[in-house]
Amino acid sequence: MEFDLPDHHRLLQRTVRDFAEQEIAPVAEELDRTHAFPYEIVRRLGELDLMGIPFPEEYGGAGSDSLAYALVVEELTRVDSSVAITLCAHTSLGTQPIYLFGDDEQKQEWLPLLCRGERLGAFGLTEPEAGSDAGNTRTRAALEDGEWVINGAKQFITNAGTHISGMVVITAVTGTGRGGDGRGGERTPGEREISNLIVPNGTRGYEPGEPYRKMGWNASDTRPLSFSDCRVPEENLLGRRGAGLRQFLHVLDIGRIGVAAMGVGLAQGALDQALAYARERRAFGRPISKFQAIQSKLANLATEIEATRLLVHKAAYLKDAGRYFTLTAAQAKLKSGRLAVRAADEAVQIHGGYGYIEEYPVCRFYRDAKILTIGEGTDEVQELVIARALGA
Ligand SMILES: Cc1cc2nc3c(=O)[nH]c(=O)nc-3n(C[C@H](O)[C@H](O)[C@H](O)COP(=O)(O)OP(=O)(O)OC[C@H]3O[C@@H](n4cnc5c(N)ncnc54)[C@H](O)[C@@H]3O)c2cc1C
Repeated sequence: MEFDLPDHHRLLQRTVRDFAEQEIAPVAEELDRTHAFPYEIVRRLGELDLMGIPFPEEYGGAGSDSLAYALVVEELTRVDSSVAITLCAHTSLGTQPIYLFGDDEQKQEWLPLLCRGERLGAFGLTEPEAGSDAGNTRTRAALEDGEWVINGAKQFITNAGTHISGMVVITAVTGTGRGGDGRGGERTPGEREISNLIVPNGTRGYEPGEPYRKMGWNASDTRPLSFSDCRVPEENLLGRRGAGLRQFLHVLDIGRIGVAAMGVGLAQGALDQALAYARERRAFGRPISKFQAIQSKLANLATEIEATRLLVHKAAYLKDAGRYFTLTAAQAKLKSGRLAVRAADEAVQIHGGYGYIEEYPVCRFYRDAKILTIGEGTDEVQELVIARALGA
């Protein structure tokens, strides 16, 4: 067993920590307050080769692995969740499906732009009637004269409506239960056939709506999407027709490693802020860090963060080794989301009244933490995945 990070991973971690502290921390509060998308930071992330970490260099990626990706996501979230989720949704949800399931032409068209961060990728799975029950997709795509005609709506989609959004991969029902589709597709009799399609921004009939007013992640882009007789070429089908369900389940598995790393990063950031504050703030003639009640909070958080980080790294290790990682990724996501919520809560508590004031980062952390128990599969869905893997 090897617990030390390889040298190049440690160097990457150090580089991203410095970048986050020097270039994100000074503007994070303002971006959050003004709900401004961090264009300049995304440009810098592209320059630093961080917008395509796990993808091969031949496509403009960094040619690195899931562990590197988890380390980068943790360091970004330690300072700001909006920036982290922008990179995470772009990498694991937007770019990943093209890399995993795209044909050569689709990869050549999209991956270099996405990996350089010149365009953002998005993944449109959730719908008004299909969240946890994602297979209940209502959006339809019908093949007419060599084009898919798409009608439907998506909701809560990250990265789809910025000035640099390039495309969204969406799930759509492309047929219904007549059994095999005659092209090697995976339609079981009686089931709806779900496929994934690439829809470029700017396609007529595809409209990202107004951004949501959210509890947190205020500087990230989240919108509903509508498709009204939206036509894309038949070639925009991603992978095999009817393979959409299997594809998105795999994409979500991978995405969970990133979101789990966000939970660890947020918890670590909350602990770091709380510790620094506790050492400065005095009450009853001593720094509050000398009170046992405060020490207990700090000690427990530090211990849980370490344990959860190991779980995240194990999930990344299993994926990189080409082994089964669904269970560990779900466990890491479940554990880290809950930890992030608790860590943010404790950090605010340690700050007392100041923790309730927006100038202090823990106030933002508190609002940003909650979504980590909901997005990329709720806690209840993680429990289902884990129980299923256990054979329950
Ligand atoms: C800020 C933000 C960004 C997002 N970004 C994206 C994105 O980029 N792309 C995308 O596709 N989606 C995105 N989502 C959507 C997100 O993944 C969903 O909100 C999430 O999966 C939950 O779906 P839902 O909101 O429909 O809740 P529901 O599925 O309606 O769940 C409601 C409650 O019921 C529980 N529940 C549901 N089914 C079960 C069950 N079988 N057993 C036990 N409990 C159950 C849930 O756990 C939850 O507590 C985003 C959401 C937000 C808020």
